[in-house]
Amino acid sequence: MTVVYPMRSKILIVNENSEEADLLRIILEDENHILDIAASGECALDIAGKSMPDLILLGSTFPDMDGIEVQRRLKKEASTQGIPVILLAGKNEMENIVKSFPAVGVDCLTKPFLGEEVLARTRSHLHFKSLVNQYAEESEALKKRNAELEKEIADKNRAVTVAEIQNRALEAFAQDNSLSDIIDILTKGLESQFDGCMCSVLVFNPESQSLHHCSAPSLPAKFSQAIEGMQIGPSVGSCGTAAYTKKLVVVEDIETDPLWKRAQKFALSHNLRACWSLPILAADDRVLGTFAVYYSSPRRPSKEELDLIGSFAYVAGVTIESKELEKSSRAKSDFLARMSHELRTPMNSILGFTQLLEMDVQNPLTSYQKDNLRTISSAGQHLLELINEVLDLSKIETGHLELSIEVINLNELVDNVVSFSKPLAENKGVTLKLQNSQSQEYFAETDSLRLKEVLLNLLSNAIKYNKLNGSVTVSFEEQAEGKIRIGVRDTGHGISAENKLKVFKPFERFDVDSDFIEGTGIGLSISKRLVEMMNGSINFESELREGSFFYIDLPISDKTPTLPHIKEKLNMPNVSTEKRGNCKIVYIEDILENIELVRQILSHRKDIELFYATNALDGIELARAEMPDLILMDIHLPEIDGLTAFKRLQAIDEMRSIPVVALTSDAMDTNAKKALEMGFHSYITKPIDIPKFMSLIKSILY
Ligand code: ADP
Repeated sequence: MTVVYPMRSKILIVNENSEEADLLRIILEDENHILDIAASGECALDIAGKSMPDLILLGSTFPDMDGIEVQRRLKKEASTQGIPVILLAGKNEMENIVKSFPAVGVDCLTKPFLGEEVLARTRSHLHFKSLVNQYAEESEALKKRNAELEKEIADKNRAVTVAEIQNRALEAFAQDNSLSDIIDILTKGLESQFDGCMCSVLVFNPESQSLHHCSAPSLPAKFSQAIEGMQIGPSVGSCGTAAYTKKLVVVEDIETDPLWKRAQKFALSHNLRACWSLPILAADDRVLGTFAVYYSSPRRPSKEELDLIGSFAYVAGVTIESKELEKSSRAKSDFLARMSHELRTPMNSILGFTQLLEMDVQNPLTSYQKDNLRTISSAGQHLLELINEVLDLSKIETGHLELSIEVINLNELVDNVVSFSKPLAENKGVTLKLQNSQSQEYFAETDSLRLKEVLLNLLSNAIKYNKLNGSVTVSFEEQAEGKIRIGVRDTGHGISAENKLKVFKPFERFDVDSDFIEGTGIGLSISKRLVEMMNGSINFESELREGSFFYIDLPISDKTPTLPHIKEKLNMPNVSTEKRGNCKIVYIEDILENIELVRQILSHRKDIELFYATNALDGIELARAEMPDLILMDIHLPEIDGLTAFKRLQAIDEMRSIPVVALTSDAMDTNAKKALEMGFHSYITKPIDIPKFMSLIKSILY
């Protein structure tokens, strides 16, 4: 390594003898150094302290002090102790000087001065000094880099720990742990990162404008109890103020900060001295709560601490908000279940009694009455369809609709849908054709029932909004990227450019004949969502008065459908083919109109005896007394619901083999599934479809 000392080094010549000083100046002048000359000890110390020379040539005696004293004072001062010194001495002074300077870094030049020697010595000292400087600089840089690396490693380690803590909180969320348990993971996690730190999370109640305990694992319990329910305001401690101003509040010392005036003594009595509080905000800037950090001695947060509190407060916010959403979505789904029940119960009576009247052979209706009844029935059916579709749409929107995905044969499904739609087409005088369906078989991974629903909707629209003698063509067309297009082309009314934007919006109906054509305006919006849930897409092209082409594109699957699974019926009573004589049915139902309807439906079956009870407990007693062949069980019963009543029946040995059919207005799929999993024989939703109901009863009883 070549080290070049600074070409223009500063040299201080300290000599009482001006001739000697001049001689040295002359010798050194050619080297282009910056030379300072001092004639006394004080003057030398003054210049050395101010200009920091790279080398001092120091004489041995001065009027104010000798060279040894100058050297001692230079070495005492931190700023000058590193400056190399060459002592200038006569031959006879040398022995004394060497004894007095045990320190390293002191060299001597003896008089008379020889130019070459002076130059050689100064050069080597300056060279050495420059080496030392360079080494010091490098080692300083290394130290700095080392410290930086250590910090980087510590930061990385902390980041990993923090990510682990936050991940644990999210896992706890996924496992449906309570809000406090999840937030505890965060507060304890942050406490583990900073010695002596005590965290607290309070949640905000917007109605009462107050903060409530959520998690404070290390705060004194009495303190937490005392601040429970505190009102927020412009100067209410750290948390009350942070929630009010939506800003970070740093109280370095509770003892002196005016924000803590009211609670200061109480906090100090619990050994709390510093409190920094960050508001927890929702995505829409609502206050959800506060994330606070306490210490038992006055303290100001570092940037790192604030960053970390910010990131924990963020996760706490997401958790609180998600829990809120979960709660409201649960409330929504409860509301849906209730609404479905409330709406279906009266529909059951309307449609059921209408069917009974239509079927009554003993008291036949006049044609006028029949017409009226048909109007009631079709209005009722329409209303029921509307209820079902609104429920479906809400279920999709709240994420409560689950698809049952399996590999299906699209050709078979489309055949089926086309055959099903034929009567409607004939009724409307529209020709319905299926094009190129046999050319190749296509499979897709979808929910077959829901896909059928979508295609039936497209076909019924194509037929409904068609002209007399119009046509509807269903086709298959392979697309790029492994997709298959199922298209429905009609020669109907078409859709204007302005209405095209409304097609997939719920409740939009814009056909000129909409008032006369049955429909709810929801079918296509449900279809779009369903198809998208099946990884497909739905679209259309349309020309006013010419017709429309609605199509869905689905990914083709290279898997083939498995054979239909044959389900064994478990816990089923042996079904005797012999007629049993009189059969008994116990119906547990709290709504009298529903009981009356079932009574009337069964009234023409003289071989069936119907017993009923209007609550579960009476129903169970009745069933025990009568030992019926079948129990019909409403689910929404007062006090004990149908599912609990079923469990109680199952606990009675002799009752276990009696089939129980759920008969309910609750149309939510999850409840149906739950009932079947529990062991109900089957699940019928009201309004009762009388022919289907009767065939189920027959299949169980005979
Ligand atoms: P609905 O048919 O019950 O009214 P949809 O959501 O299925 O509800 O359709 C929404 C609206 O789109 C319809 O009311 C109708 O105005 C229009 N539409 C749908 N399909 C067609 C079609 N094939 N031809 C013309 N208009 C259509």
